[in-house]
Amino acid sequence: MRLGSVNLRVVSDGTYWEDGGGLFGLVPKALWERVMQPDERNRLPFQQRSLLIETPTQRILVDTGYGDKLSEKERGFVSLEGERRLLSDLEKAGIGASAVDLVINTHLHGDHCGGNTRYDRDGKLVPTFPRATYCIQRLELADAHFPNERTRGTYLQENFEPLERAGQVRVLWGDTQISDEVRVMVTPGHTRAHQCVVVESEGKTAAFLGDLASWPIHIERLAWVPAYDIEPMVSIETKRSVARWAVEKKVLLFFEHHPEVAAGYLFATERPDRFRLEPVEVGAQ
Ligand SMILES: [Zn+2]
Repeated sequence: MRLGSVNLRVVSDGTYWEDGGGLFGLVPKALWERVMQPDERNRLPFQQRSLLIETPTQRILVDTGYGDKLSEKERGFVSLEGERRLLSDLEKAGIGASAVDLVINTHLHGDHCGGNTRYDRDGKLVPTFPRATYCIQRLELADAHFPNERTRGTYLQENFEPLERAGQVRVLWGDTQISDEVRVMVTPGHTRAHQCVVVESEGKTAAFLGDLASWPIHIERLAWVPAYDIEPMVSIETKRSVARWAVEKKVLLFFEHHPEVAAGYLFATERPDRFRLEPVEVGAQ
């Protein structure tokens, strides 16, 4: 779809299944199962969307899914379905891996940056996108390099160290204008330096939310915070300010993980802590 002078295209690395309790944290199951019924193992389906942003001068990819480095055991643990397909999705859009100029990681959890790197024919870990500069927040990189007991399972060195060795990382210090049309804003809570990607062109605005709101319900109801969020009260305040901005500016919001809703516009309700999303068809799966 077009947004001013920019082309936006949703691509995907595929689907996986995750425990419903993780996605909804303290929200009782009796409430969240009204949003979506889990399967018999209490799991919910997740999409792994990435956003391809084609500006007049650059091709920018936001997040890279799980990638194909996981072992059979690890694939089973996160219930990955089928083959990883980010690269074939990009190829269908006419974009080979070497055509990507920039990769922006919202954060470095394994399901957002696993596709950053791959094994080459000699079994060596290399950047998946050979020409790309990878834009990562400084504090996120620090937290990923020095994980704690809680974050160790998802901050996997193989997803970012090979990029550093190849000299392909641009370390961002907070909010940064990446190009004329694209900027990142730090949106802490899920991690300390999680960032959303904002596209602005000809008076129109879009934002890729990453795990600020994995599903639309997380921004529709500010109090619904996943168990994964490192700083839940910070998440709520960040969501409050992003939601107000999105309503006021009529921002087209993109969602990384909901199985059906890829994008939509947010509207206010009579309750200050609740919003309503109207989904928009953006030609995505
Ligand atoms: Zn995450």
